[in-house]
Amino acid sequence: MEAMICNNCGCPDALPLHQFKLEQEGQDSWVVRCLHCGLVYLNPRPSRDRIGIYYPPNYQANMLSLLASGKTNPIARLGFGMVRRRRTPSTKGKRLLDVGCSNGAYLAAMREKGWDVEGVEFDAGAVEYARNSHHLKVTQGDTESGLARLAGNSFDVVTLWHVLEHAFDPAAALQQIHRVLKPKGVLMLEVPNFASPLASLFRKYWFPMDIPRHLFQFTPATLKTMLVKAGFERIRVKGVPSPEAMVWSAVAARQASPIDFNRGDTLQLNPVAVALAFPLSWIMARFVMSDHMAAVAVRGK
Ligand SMILES: [Zn+2]
Repeated sequence: MEAMICNNCGCPDALPLHQFKLEQEGQDSWVVRCLHCGLVYLNPRPSRDRIGIYYPPNYQANMLSLLASGKTNPIARLGFGMVRRRRTPSTKGKRLLDVGCSNGAYLAAMREKGWDVEGVEFDAGAVEYARNSHHLKVTQGDTESGLARLAGNSFDVVTLWHVLEHAFDPAAALQQIHRVLKPKGVLMLEVPNFASPLASLFRKYWFPMDIPRHLFQFTPATLKTMLVKAGFERIRVKGVPSPEAMVWSAVAARQASPIDFNRGDTLQLNPVAVALAFPLSWIMARFVMSDHMAAVAVRGK
C-alpha cells in the first residue's frame, strides 16, 4: 500500500469520507477529500504491482457480456446506440487515439466511420482480443506509461471513456495527452461525477466508487482545474445519463455490499430497471448531477 498526497495540488491534508476494508491487502483504506483543492482520492492505495489483482478475469469478461447484451436486447441496444452517438467526435480530423481501449469495440466502430485509429490498454487479455479480433494497433501499458511511448503532436482526437479515475497519476496522464495531441486537437472523456447527489445518497455503495479500481473521483470543478493545469482550453463539462449506475448503486445498497469482482460478483444489466431509471437520470444529467459526466477540451497552443 502506498500513502498519497493530492495529485492536483500536492497538499497532504485531507478529510476522510468513507472507510473501506481491502481484503487482499489486509488493510483499511479511505476515500478522502483534499482540504485545499477538493480532489477526492483513495488513500492509502494498492501499489502499481498489486493493482492487477483487482482486475480478475471476470472483470473484462463482464464488460464483454454487457456489450453482447446490446446485440440481443432491444432496450440495451437503444442504450448502447445512445452511448455510441455521444462518443462519436463531431470535430474534423483523421487520427484518433482511445486510451483504455479495452477489447477495441469502440475503436473498430470509429474506424468504420473513417477514423485512422489506435489504442492504449493495460489488460493483456483485452489487448490480445483487440489485436486479433479487430486487427487494431494497440500499445500495451497503463495510462501514463502507454502514452509516454507515443510520439508527440500525433492525434486529432484523444478519448478516455472511464479511464482517468483508474490512473495512478491523472495529472501526468493529462499532460501526456496534451503532448500527443496536435495543437487544437480535442480531448473527449467521461468520468464519474462525485458532485452527484447520488454519491452523497449511496455513499460507499455508490456504484462509481468502485474501490480500489477507482483511485480518484472528480467533480466538474476539480476536473476543470486539472484540465486547465495540463494546458487545455475551451473546456465544456456536461452531465451524462447513467441509469445503469443508478440501478447498480440501488442493488449494492440493498445488499449492503459493494460489487466485488474478486469475490466473483458479476454485473447484471436489467434492461427494464434501466429503462425505468432513465427519465430521472436524464433530468439529473441536464443539471450535471447524474452519476457520470463528460468533458470536451481543446489543446491550447
Ligand atoms: Zn488538492
